[in-house]
Amino acid sequence: MAKDNGPKCRFCRREGLKLFLKGERCFTDKCSFERHEYPPGMHGQKRAKLSEFGVQLREKQKVRRVYGMTEKPFKNMFKKAVREKGVTSDIFFKNLELRLDNVVYRMGFARSRQEAKQIVRHNHVLVNGKKANISSIKLKVGDVVTVPEKDQKLAIFADSEAIYQRRASLPWIEVDRKKYTGKIIAEPHRDDIGLPVKERLIVELYSK
Ligand code: SF4
Repeated sequence: MAKDNGPKCRFCRREGLKLFLKGERCFTDKCSFERHEYPPGMHGQKRAKLSEFGVQLREKQKVRRVYGMTEKPFKNMFKKAVREKGVTSDIFFKNLELRLDNVVYRMGFARSRQEAKQIVRHNHVLVNGKKANISSIKLKVGDVVTVPEKDQKLAIFADSEAIYQRRASLPWIEVDRKKYTGKIIAEPHRDDIGLPVKERLIVELYSK
């Protein structure tokens, strides 16, 4: 499946929800969703009734876009969650949250998950003191993410104090902003994620 390279704000309007894909802009009056809450396109203002499949698909797309993933790895993560012991949707969301790019974003080192992917890809973070440049790496409790000292002055981290202040503190992460270091202190729970989606619909869609 092709990458989601289109204008990000269209995704929010399509899903009828602010997905916070553009970092700080999402908190300003430039947010496109605040001005046009209806779906994009010529017929966007006509609300078509969705089929059962359509409702499930929209719910899945919402989550996939929030985490900035393409369909194949997203579905593979779901299949992996099915194979693990426990409630599939809880495991699925836990694994999504524990991806390195998401952790970098959650720790306040990036304005958006997209920027977090870039930071990871360009080797601007270390995991437990070692290079880690793959966004999809799954972290675990006890892992420490650090921005090396030589990178802390880069323009991409220039607003990090403001970003950090805005980011909600999460019970599963501990951040020392001054040292550009964060630690995973617990496994993330579904309730900590704060994403208004009906995960049951995603399970139903992928179980067909
Ligand atoms: Fe969505 Fe608004 Fe952010 Fe654009 S600016 S990505 S519409 S939340």
